[in-house]
Amino acid sequence: MNYCSECGAKLVWKIPCGDNCERFVCESCDKIHYQNPVIIASCLAHFEDKVVWMQRAEQPRKGSWVIPAGFMEKGETLREAAARELFEETGAVVRPEQMMLHTLGNLMYTDEVYIVFRAPLMSETLACGSEALHAALFSEDQAPWDNIAYPVMEDYVRRFYRELAAKSFTIYIGEFRESGNWIQNIALGLD
Ligand code: ZN
Repeated sequence: MNYCSECGAKLVWKIPCGDNCERFVCESCDKIHYQNPVIIASCLAHFEDKVVWMQRAEQPRKGSWVIPAGFMEKGETLREAAARELFEETGAVVRPEQMMLHTLGNLMYTDEVYIVFRAPLMSETLACGSEALHAALFSEDQAPWDNIAYPVMEDYVRRFYRELAAKSFTIYIGEFRESGNWIQNIALGLD
């Protein structure tokens, strides 16, 4: 970030008055340009013992598999964002009122907050969108673990398959740092 989006003046990297960390500050119009973590919303859409996955059509990690997820847009609720991403990339439809919280992940190395819901799939019909090469329903045995886009996902997705089999779900909060592993520090029993 070099120039102010409000007035076009050159930005200065400094601690604003009354603050305690450095920010991009416009000394012409006084606007402080905050940079905060972004929210990524995702949904584990399930049918019997299977979960909806998609194969990435775009870089990075083109050809690898993920659970659909994407950036939350302004004006959306979390559930709307997760349902939209799921539908755009796989054609899978879930009902917002059936979406339950599953995992909160703090990705410290990318400054992202990952919020994962779970919801039953309304129909098995899938149709992949422009960002997907394929959309598919996989059981745990069929899932492409050896070609997963983000290894950090394996932990919570495998956990979800176990929960599906047991029909008993929890909410997890995890933190992931570049040098370390996913830490499950809270597990709340739900149903
Ligand atoms: Zn300015």
